[in-house]
Amino acid sequence: MNCPQCNSNNIVKNGHTHYGKQRFRCQECRRQFGENPTRQPIDEATRSLIEKLLKERLALAAIARVTGVSERWLQMYVNQKYYLLPKQVEVTQKNRVG
Ligand SMILES: [Zn+2]
Repeated sequence: MNCPQCNSNNIVKNGHTHYGKQRFRCQECRRQFGENPTRQPIDEATRSLIEKLLKERLALAAIARVTGVSERWLQMYVNQKYYLLPKQVEVTQKNRVG
């Protein structure tokens, strides 16, 4: 683990947060931070699992719970995915009168 601010690995444990998570402090710049200070990218295995679950037409909230991603991220992912899909051309013929 490295400091999110100065990237030093001179890290010491510094008690716990109110929620029981381990807290750390950087000895170099004195910054305090919790576990996993940086956002984790979603890996390929998780993405392919999400693909499968989407095909099963599970609710996004359920998929988020199962795969451990945030609902917000999942919503963004789905939006992006559908945006990239070629859209079916919808022919709407209006009967023009007059
Ligand atoms: Zn630091």
